[in-house]
Amino acid sequence: MAYEEEIEAFIRATFEQNYEQLRLESGQALAPNVKETALNQVLLYWRKLRAIAEAVTDTEVHLSLPGCETPQGREYTIEGVVDILQEEGRTVMYDVKTHDADFVRANPEDYEQQLNVYAHIWQELRQQDLDEMAVIATAFPETLQDALASGDPDMLAYHLERWEPVIPIAFDERRVEETIRAFGAVVDAIEENRFAPRPVADLNVELPGARRERFAARICRNCDARFSCTSFREYAWKPGYRDAGEPALRPYFVDPPPDAEQEHWRAAGLEAAPDTAELRADFGR
Ligand code: SF4
Repeated sequence: MAYEEEIEAFIRATFEQNYEQLRLESGQALAPNVKETALNQVLLYWRKLRAIAEAVTDTEVHLSLPGCETPQGREYTIEGVVDILQEEGRTVMYDVKTHDADFVRANPEDYEQQLNVYAHIWQELRQQDLDEMAVIATAFPETLQDALASGDPDMLAYHLERWEPVIPIAFDERRVEETIRAFGAVVDAIEENRFAPRPVADLNVELPGARRERFAARICRNCDARFSCTSFREYAWKPGYRDAGEPALRPYFVDPPPDAEQEHWRAAGLEAAPDTAELRADFGR
């Protein structure tokens, strides 16, 4: 078997093992199409970034900044996980995100904050050199999705070549203090049980990026709290948002998944649920 095929077979087998382990631990399964997208993210990451994947010297490096203080005087610790590549005297820090590259490029400040804190920990606390930082955005673009679906190897190779998932991030020590303060404010809000959603006006704001989506479409649509969120309900309720037949039911039918997808979810959930024998073994009856 060729080396590439061998590695891809290994990735598929390891992915399946990890998935089964997570499914058994959590009792939750993924719909087949979601699982396939996740596997494709890993496979395309390998095909596109093989040079980086093979050169990374330390994966899942845990970084920790203890002793931070919130604006209200609470002590907390910032923790993060990065990959480090050390080669020919140069050190590069990578933060792997499941986001799409266009969104990362259009909203660099969201990522700069976090990576600048990690760089600060690496350089100041660990006393290690750092030459570059970058985000690796593993969500592949729609063009690649279409190329995969087409089964055309030339089309796939063409779009794989054009995909740029590595986004360099600038290091700016001045932003570290600012970020620690912002994280601290979030810690205070959590500790004080302040969980107000974003104002509804924010949900209408179009986020920068090639897809030009509103906050509600990009963020809220993936938020598990959306059906009990007053801001999202108000947003979804507004006339003209969607042509749902019965206005009273509109908030509950905003963007329902297609029937086939719902059926996949149902089947995957049933498959993951314990059967009678497993329940007896767990509960001793
Ligand atoms: S739906 Fe979720 S992300 Fe959107 S405003 Fe409400 S809580 Fe925030």
